[in-house]
Amino acid sequence: MSQRYKILGLLGDGIAGEIITEGLKVLEAIEDRYGLDLEILGPYPVGARYWVDHDLKRGWPEELTAELFYEADAIFKGPTGLPDLVGKLPGSYTPINMRTELDLYANIRPCRLRPGVKSVLTGRKPGDIDYIILRENTEHMYVNIGGFMKRGGETELAIDNYVQTKKGCERIIKYGFNLARSGEYKGKIGAPLDGKRRLTCACKWGLTKGDDLFKDTYERLAKENSDIERDSTWIDSWSYYAIMRPGFYDVVVMPNQYGDIMSDMSGAIQGSLGLAGSINAGDKHCFAEATHGSAPDIAGRGISNPMSMILSMGMMLNWLGDKRGDKRLKEAWRSIDRVVDKVLAEGKVRTPDLGGTNSTKELGTSIADAVLKID
Ligand code: NAD
Repeated sequence: MSQRYKILGLLGDGIAGEIITEGLKVLEAIEDRYGLDLEILGPYPVGARYWVDHDLKRGWPEELTAELFYEADAIFKGPTGLPDLVGKLPGSYTPINMRTELDLYANIRPCRLRPGVKSVLTGRKPGDIDYIILRENTEHMYVNIGGFMKRGGETELAIDNYVQTKKGCERIIKYGFNLARSGEYKGKIGAPLDGKRRLTCACKWGLTKGDDLFKDTYERLAKENSDIERDSTWIDSWSYYAIMRPGFYDVVVMPNQYGDIMSDMSGAIQGSLGLAGSINAGDKHCFAEATHGSAPDIAGRGISNPMSMILSMGMMLNWLGDKRGDKRLKEAWRSIDRVVDKVLAEGKVRTPDLGGTNSTKELGTSIADAVLKID
């Protein structure tokens, strides 16, 4: 009998429902095509809208227990948060803080200029840009240690702390060397410019102690991973080089907040945030989540691009395939990746972010149909 995998689903705010509906359509086609048995738990509503609709008491339904997160083989989540509610909500959107409690230290965010997508960078064609932002996901500015003093007064003071640990630096940088070595989630192994497997370290050493530790750790580990080309640049310079010579990059590892910001910029570099898939991965758990937010400016109109969610779900299957040694799951990811390229290259069905007039649903359906037709 086929191995059954439990996949926990969380809906989120804004466009979350519409992109997840299309993601599930594609997962169903993948199940059919590869003989997989995926048990989808939920998807449960979570997020800012849920808080508001439930008298600001909780952001998730009672049946969504913490245990479900630990029991699931993998998780997918839609974007959560609405701009008019930022800072007004009393707590978290889920029963656990997924990134820290599930120890999901690696946020993998590929940036690839795919066929049929027009670059915002003059003269770049598909294949010229193909790098991964590898964002450390549990430390840095988002540890949430700090607070306010003299709130509301003339001398009001806000403090945030930046934490970076040796263990945190080591594990993400090792992950980066292995990612560059494997070529996972890339169109082609190595940097497009010269084919070299390269791990770039981008941070602000010389300025903060945490980044000094990050860079020192990188230099130490680079000596043990000499098959991978070493490269380092300050994070401010990297934002310049990423635009000027994107083809030089293969895998770029960076502390948490820089990765958050640079991956949105990379959304633009690859043509749309609607193409930006991502997973939050640890050694035991993983959740798929598009790089972008809830897109309130287009929510409810049925025109968002579901490819970001579909690619994220595919990456999640690949992670699970490695964990369980199930080649079908890895093949399923490669198929999703190829089908997205095929649909983009044909250019018949496109959402407005890619210059088309089709709906979220039409694009999701065309991908699911193409999955069912894979030889
Ligand atoms: P956003 O990422 O939601 O949107 C930025 C731009 O990208 C918008 O123009 C939007 O229309 C476009 N876009 C995003 N996804 C798209 C898609 N799939 N197809 C087509 N276009 C797409 O950023 P924002 O407006 O700054 O944030 C909105 C809310 O999302 C905020 O409340 C923020 O806190 C939250 N947010 C949540 C997450 C998360 O849950 N992981 C991440 C980022 C932001």
